[in-house]
Amino acid sequence: MSVEEFDVVVAGGGPGGSTVASLVAMQGHRVLLLEKEVFPRYQIGESLLPATVHGVCRMLGVSDELAAAGFPVKRGGTFRWGARPEPWTFHFGISAKMAGSTSHAYQVERARFDEILLNNAKRKGVVVREGCSVVDVVEDGERVTGLRYTDPDGTEREVSSRFVIDASGNKSRLHSKVGGKRNYSEFFRSLALFGYFEGGKRLPAPVSGNILSVAFDSGWFWYIPLSDTLTSVGAVVRREDADKIQGDQEKALNALIAECPLISEYLADATRVTTGKYGELRVRKDYSYQQTTFWRPGMVLVGDAACFVDPVFSSGVHLATYSALLAARSINSVLAGELDEKTVLTEFEARYRREYGVFYEFLVSFYQMNVNEESYFWQAKKVTRNQNTDIESFVELIGGVSSGETALTAADRIAERSAEFAAAVDEMAGGDGDNMVPMFKSHVVKQAMQEAGQVQMRALLGQDAEPELPLFPNGLVTSPDGMRWLPYHPA
Ligand code: FAD
Repeated sequence: MSVEEFDVVVAGGGPGGSTVASLVAMQGHRVLLLEKEVFPRYQIGESLLPATVHGVCRMLGVSDELAAAGFPVKRGGTFRWGARPEPWTFHFGISAKMAGSTSHAYQVERARFDEILLNNAKRKGVVVREGCSVVDVVEDGERVTGLRYTDPDGTEREVSSRFVIDASGNKSRLHSKVGGKRNYSEFFRSLALFGYFEGGKRLPAPVSGNILSVAFDSGWFWYIPLSDTLTSVGAVVRREDADKIQGDQEKALNALIAECPLISEYLADATRVTTGKYGELRVRKDYSYQQTTFWRPGMVLVGDAACFVDPVFSSGVHLATYSALLAARSINSVLAGELDEKTVLTEFEARYRREYGVFYEFLVSFYQMNVNEESYFWQAKKVTRNQNTDIESFVELIGGVSSGETALTAADRIAERSAEFAAAVDEMAGGDGDNMVPMFKSHVVKQAMQEAGQVQMRALLGQDAEPELPLFPNGLVTSPDGMRWLPYHPA
């Protein structure tokens, strides 16, 4: 069997896989992505966060395409939750980090959203093969050195690569190869029953695109507008109430809706979609878990393959795309010969676990129903340990920007910065500026990055390049374009 060679091979073409593949290919590396299905394919997880839309998606270059897609604009969330009997609403825009043009996300049909990201990966130079199911990793001692997969004809193939990424989601067959095991949370062990409705009621403008989350005796409902008329509706029930979704699913969903007055009111004139991709009622165990370790030499987990936490704050796509960004930075740094694998993947795992951890820790307190929203806001401040007001802490945590990473809040500024940086680099290297990728690989650029590091960046780019501080003692910081890591040298 002939073995193809790539710098990176990615299993899975969901948001995690297509993001990491694109961000590595954009640095001029050879990337193969293997996806089991043929897109567009159905997936749950429709409510996005601003950090994904204005951070990672801008870095990927798909912001304009998303804006033009007509997805409902999500300005925040409306909750009937906790001790207060009336619904309460939060707006992303009250945080300075998400104010103005970045104060919203979208509610997306995942078949369309995921296809936009996958097609973008192809445009960025990723070799994408759909209908290809990854079956195992190839190992050489400690190191993972490639993947085995079955192509659409059923032929088994092998590919070798410097890095393997498992982004194949919660049903990943590979994740255990990284070492350790999936550790399931004792706290979050619920099940979701969900379907789609036409003609449901909308929240009043300007929050008609908000997610509506409603707690009731057996659990909670999500109510996500996917168009003017189509709504995604799901009941998440506690493990103790699992029998409520056994048997006839139609009857079960109707009974749960009847238990919840607000959702009953919103669906009073609606009919359930019973044909096409939205015609099926589906059940998912949304058990929360995290793998003992997120990497080993040559192999990295991103997205649901690594961890998942209860869906109430719509954090899944954010965690998938953010971990993909962290992984891409790490791999780009190693492939450019700038930093070693252990250093960068330790940074990757620490940041990824921090982000997962704030959602997890906060969610535990959010399930306390006998308090009002002010208490949740206070708890968010405690978990994120920042200088903001309580409500800002809450909004930044659930907007996905509590890490303070510029790449997640000001990717447009980063794009400008990269252009300036490329021009400066070009000048230093005496090139013509037309071809950025070879420039970034040049000896001059490597030296600028490694030796002069951040001080030089600041000198090149002025105040706008004021560097972030490391998130952890002795940790790394991001390069001005957000694509790699740099060692931290205090001024
Ligand atoms: P996926 O989106 O699962 O993509 C993995 C890809 O890998 C798939 O395309 C799959 O076909 C492919 N694949 C699988 N096996 C193989 C293989 N062997 N070889 C090749 N390819 C393979 N998230 C939100 O952001 N907002 C929400 O509102 C939200 N609601 C949710 C509600 C519920 C009930 C649940 C359970 C989850 C929800 N999520 C939500 C989470 C969200 O669905 C996931 O976190 C997100 O899809 C993870 O992205 P991913 O790229 O890691 O994996």
